[in-house]
Amino acid sequence: MASGQCLCGAVRFSLGVEPGFYYRCHCTLCRKQTGVGHNLATLVKARDFRWEAGQGAITSWRKASGYRNDFCSGCGSTVPNALRETPYYWIPLGLLDGELSMECVGDFCTDDAMPWDEQRSERSHRAAPDSLEFLLQELQVSID
Ligand SMILES: [Zn+2]
Ligand SMILES: [Zn+2]
Repeated sequence: MASGQCLCGAVRFSLGVEPGFYYRCHCTLCRKQTGVGHNLATLVKARDFRWEAGQGAITSWRKASGYRNDFCSGCGSTVPNALRETPYYWIPLGLLDGELSMECVGDFCTDDAMPWDEQRSERSHRAAPDSLEFLLQELQVSID
């Protein structure tokens, strides 16, 4: 079990699982999304995700490519989103409360990383994950 909320606390959610793994993405979009060099995120099954409050406060920005940034209209925090047409939710790590012990499974899009963004795990990938299945496998989330 884990829970999270945005900066202002309007958007809140809970997880039926305690995620153990996350990834870093250094792509240009994730850099702009976070305002720093990379994002940190994980995926959970939709059935393990629940909104507790504030869904109506969420604004969704989407690119034609499918990239999506959902954020709290009140405070601007990036919040979780349903991953396209899949039964999974994308979770930005910084929103999670409590001291979860988690491990990084890899870095993606390192070709796009800025020179000042130097942090890397042992498993660096120059591009994005080849497939959702690969990413789920890395994160040790079972595929339904
Ligand atoms: Zn907020
Ligand atoms: Zn990215």
